[in-house]
Amino acid sequence: MKWRLIDLTVPLEATISEPEPVNIEWIDHREGAFLLTRGSGIHADSFPEGLGLSLERIRLTSHSGTHVDAPIHYGPTSEGKKARSIDEMPLEWFFGPAVVLDCRTENTEPVTCEEIKSALNRQGLDLEAGNIVFINTGADHLWGTSEYFTNFRGFSAEATEWLIDCEIRVIGIDSFGFDPPFQKMIQSYLQTGDPRTLWPCHMLGRKREYCQIERLANLSLLPTDRKFLVSCFPLRLKGCGAGPSRVVALL
Ligand SMILES: [Zn+2]
Repeated sequence: MKWRLIDLTVPLEATISEPEPVNIEWIDHREGAFLLTRGSGIHADSFPEGLGLSLERIRLTSHSGTHVDAPIHYGPTSEGKKARSIDEMPLEWFFGPAVVLDCRTENTEPVTCEEIKSALNRQGLDLEAGNIVFINTGADHLWGTSEYFTNFRGFSAEATEWLIDCEIRVIGIDSFGFDPPFQKMIQSYLQTGDPRTLWPCHMLGRKREYCQIERLANLSLLPTDRKFLVSCFPLRLKGCGAGPSRVVALL
């Protein structure tokens, strides 16, 4: 059997779309020759054409690029126990049948539970325990611009809780964040003084254990009328609250 693989990630790169900058220091082959021979008693020119091996020094956050959030990111505890870090999450959560729900509308409010249920209905899909659920809002078309950080819908806590009730443990979205844009949440808080306006899905993760994937891409390339296999293993960053992931659909 031959798989067709679809890359569902944005590249890890220095871009205006990431408010926490990704910095890559490029060490070319010539500089690499000096690094590899430093203090060894041999000369950098011992390599053919004086060229050694290249290297990149990278500075990023655990939430740069397409990544999986772990319960410890949401708070110190989840479901009454010490919250798990990304390296402690079971591998089984990150490989298996997935669905993509088409939630592309003009609506700029967070995706509701009703929308999820009607998308499942319209697309003729049933959820089973352990399925991976992706939410297509179309937000990835702003990748590479500063609006990527400010213009997206995000997901609602009620929809998240409903999916967790269906025994879904991994939910992914194609926007900068899983909750609405930062400025929008802060505006609502300033207007209402209601702490429930601040990162409601993330806060739900203190009560109900789940992982969310942020900054997916290319969800429009996936079939909407059937399930497909997904691999979304996060990097094994010890004790960390998230890990970048190469999310791939296998068709
Ligand atoms: Zn995150």
